Amino acid sequence: MNILFGSVTGTAENLARSAAKLARARGHDVNITELDEVSMDDLATMDDVLIVVSTYGEGEMPFNAELFWDEIEAAPPVLQGLKYGVLALGDTAYEQFCQAGKDIDAMLEACGATRRVDRVDCDLNYEKDAQAWIEAAIPMAGGGEVVSVEALTEEEEEEVWSRTNPFPAPILENRKLSGEGSTKDMRHIVLSLEGSGLTYEAGDCVGIVPKNDPELVQQFLRRLNKTWVTRLPGYDVPLGELLTSRLEILTPSKALIDGVGAVVQDADLQAALNGTREEYEAYFWGKDVIDVLNIDPRLVVGADILIPLLSPLQHRSYSIASTPVCHGDEVHLTVAAVRWENERSYGGVCSTFLADRLEEGETAGLFPIPNKRFRVPAPDVPMIMVGPGTGIAPYLGFLAERYAAGAKGETWLYTGDRNRDCDHCYEEELVGFEASGALSHLRLAFSRDGAQKTYVQHLMAEDGAALWQAIEAGAHIYLCGDAKRMALDVEATLVRIIAEHGQMTERYAEDRLAQLRRQGRYVKDVY
Ligand code: NAP
Repeated sequence: MNILFGSVTGTAENLARSAAKLARARGHDVNITELDEVSMDDLATMDDVLIVVSTYGEGEMPFNAELFWDEIEAAPPVLQGLKYGVLALGDTAYEQFCQAGKDIDAMLEACGATRRVDRVDCDLNYEKDAQAWIEAAIPMAGGGEVVSVEALTEEEEEEVWSRTNPFPAPILENRKLSGEGSTKDMRHIVLSLEGSGLTYEAGDCVGIVPKNDPELVQQFLRRLNKTWVTRLPGYDVPLGELLTSRLEILTPSKALIDGVGAVVQDADLQAALNGTREEYEAYFWGKDVIDVLNIDPRLVVGADILIPLLSPLQHRSYSIASTPVCHGDEVHLTVAAVRWENERSYGGVCSTFLADRLEEGETAGLFPIPNKRFRVPAPDVPMIMVGPGTGIAPYLGFLAERYAAGAKGETWLYTGDRNRDCDHCYEEELVGFEASGALSHLRLAFSRDGAQKTYVQHLMAEDGAALWQAIEAGAHIYLCGDAKRMALDVEATLVRIIAEHGQMTERYAEDRLAQLRRQGRYVKDVY
């Protein structure tokens, strides 16, 4: 049996691993691998495949399933002998809910494969549905003892720090990186792993399990006319604790919006609900759950009705900005505290939890999210690292390692932020890496210093000939940071550089980049 996964934050991968464990316990030979590792030739030789895949952004494939999807879409293979099942993960807040799973499911069917188990589409509280799908998708093979996935998962959770059992990591440092006058609030956060037994490698991520802002919890309780200690039937903790640690009380879920839309006859709300996607997004931009309830301030909602409409509080994933080689038991993070104004002042759940609310000696729930492809290569291999804003994080770990090893290969770092005066984060560290030779080309793009925006990809285009030469010499290319615009623009620039300097069409250049991805020489950590 082949179990394939495409994962954004590690949830699909963890579920695939639970499925593999159950399958082995039920007597199957199991191969587990990420979708991008599977070529169409491999797929055509398989007879039994289970796929666990999450959806990224607006209905897109996760990054380790992009190649798989590009290839199957470009030349759909004949898969007559294949039996398969798809478990799709998503978030009903997005219009294209579970689209990646739906696309793969439909594509395999169109290729002639036979669905052995129906696709299940899971929302954020996926545990029960996913477990039921795994149980149904993995029959007993001859000789295995019947073992339930629940028993296996419980066993696993006792063994390791995980999303549901995070390590309470004490905060050691919270240093403001943004200088006076900055329009951003970037922080260097250091957490301790001491005593956890956890290890990681430079390039990995961690999941942080946040707690909601206590002031927001109080506002929420007032809106519901309840107190912290109120107990709701069916819940094992007081309402205040539910709102603090278990439920998403900032971003409204689709279920909540639909629920309010069904009872509140406000003209603007109804126009947004019945309008285009843009109108919907513009209306709900910046509104939190309380704002949605307050569209009609007279609306009285029972806590027992409202609570099931809220999404579970999710962990947030951060790229690690350190390496155990140089930083021992510490995990460093580069965090942009998200803040905005609308009806009131708001703060991102996890970034302000880390930046504002963790006092000395307090802990943040943490668990590892490995990123096995995002690794520093041998010292003589050239590296091209691209990461403006928080995207600089993993390169601090990479460069610290190269610095410690006395490596002096060709390394490019394209980073920067808004203004040089106040947003030149990690200047001292970068100057040190440069002076030592660990970093040979530091290229800084400060977007808001000139009349025209300067972005990292503009500097890359200037360096096109040298970058192409480095790629030809075996360079590894890394891309980290904002996925919505930056990563797309940087990738398009890479294609143009390859096309221009490699003297080929853009179509061939795209293939060349896909080949680099398959070889593990072009890797992304984007969010
Ligand atoms: P950012 O503040 O959005 O941007 C960093 C720099 O990239 C700015 O100079 C920006 O310029 C520039 N930029 C904007 N559009 C670009 C494009 N198309 N191509 C190239 N450069 C572009 O970046 P950030 O601090 O990394 O935050 C990005 C998002 O990630 C935030 O929404 C944050 O909440 C989220 N996030 C952060 C973390 C974390 O803190 N570690 C983790 C997960 C998610 P201009 O702004 O001047 O256009």
